Amino acid sequence: MTVRIGVIGTGAIGRDHARRINQVLAGGEIVALSDVNRASAESLKADIAPAAEVFATGEELIASQGVDAVLVTSWGTTHEQYVLAAIAAGKPVFCEKPLAATAEGAKRIVDAEVAHGKRLVQVGFMRRYDAGYVALKQVVDSRIGAPIIVHAAHRNPTVPEQYGTPMAIHDTFIHEIDVFRWLLDDDYVSARVIFPRAAARAHARLRDPQIVILETAKGTVIETEIFVNCHYGYDIQCEVVGEDGIARLPEPMAIQTRLGATLGNPILTDWKDRFIASYDVELNDFLKAAAEGTASGPTAWDGYVAAITSDACVSAQDTAGEPVAISLPERPALYA
Ligand code: NAP
Repeated sequence: MTVRIGVIGTGAIGRDHARRINQVLAGGEIVALSDVNRASAESLKADIAPAAEVFATGEELIASQGVDAVLVTSWGTTHEQYVLAAIAAGKPVFCEKPLAATAEGAKRIVDAEVAHGKRLVQVGFMRRYDAGYVALKQVVDSRIGAPIIVHAAHRNPTVPEQYGTPMAIHDTFIHEIDVFRWLLDDDYVSARVIFPRAAARAHARLRDPQIVILETAKGTVIETEIFVNCHYGYDIQCEVVGEDGIARLPEPMAIQTRLGATLGNPILTDWKDRFIASYDVELNDFLKAAAEGTASGPTAWDGYVAAITSDACVSAQDTAGEPVAISLPERPALYA
């Protein structure tokens, strides 16, 4: 079966996912597009999806009889309305992170999906599909004993002018929030944020770098440096310290050189390259489940927990290092 897909939001990631579905993966075809900027949808149609119909609104796209499943890749503040509409229509929906702009919004999606009674939502936490994280999880689950500490870093060379201190959590650290819950099979109970002296490239609206310390229900402590103007490259680090040994996330494949009396390993500079292969795997997972009329992978519950946790981390940016408690409602049986 070919799953007929509609894409809402045809900017950077929407265009890339459309390319993936029409040109890389089997099992899906882009048949519908919508964007507040119609010219953007028309341009994607001309370049990648000539057979697609361009709809004036996301709601019309979701309601179309010719659309089996939906990708929501518009701005984060608009995700909730489209995901709720897709659930109401009973159609599988892949939603880029964040699931919703607020934890309350994510809760409304969880409630709607639970009321529907079957999974329809996959959230775009693609690190769970990265070969390096998958290999790390296998070792953490089987070889190093119970995890005690995680040391991690999320470093970007630079960020746009409008990027402020809370965005380091909502847009950047959100990926760590999700992947560490999955990696450790655990939930968070508290968050602390510590600010070292500001780096020279920080500014009034961006305190950079920052260190986030999450404590889990099982007592593991995860300390992550977020440094979004580190200048030297896009660098994701993760080391898990267990009872019996240590496991590290592998570096991305790169050609090592011995040149000019120097041993060299290039470091990526663009985040798009770091997890490029994982997007293929995550969308393949979506297509397979959508063909069965359901969803797999990261759930609406995972999106909701990520939203609660990021809100706690943002609050902790203003408590001078004091912990902020994270308490989760009971997990519905649908997400057991
Ligand atoms: P982008 O390039 O700005 O694209 C978003 C598109 O959505 C734009 O074309 C925008 O229109 C359109 N749009 C805004 N409001 C809309 C609405 N109500 N209905 C329909 N279309 C609407 O942003 P992006 O980088 O692709 O990011 C999109 C989402 O994906 C964000 O939530 C982001 O966090 C997420 N993302 C995730 C990853 C990941 O690694 N998982 C990577 C990148 C992005 P105009 O700009 O023309 O007004």
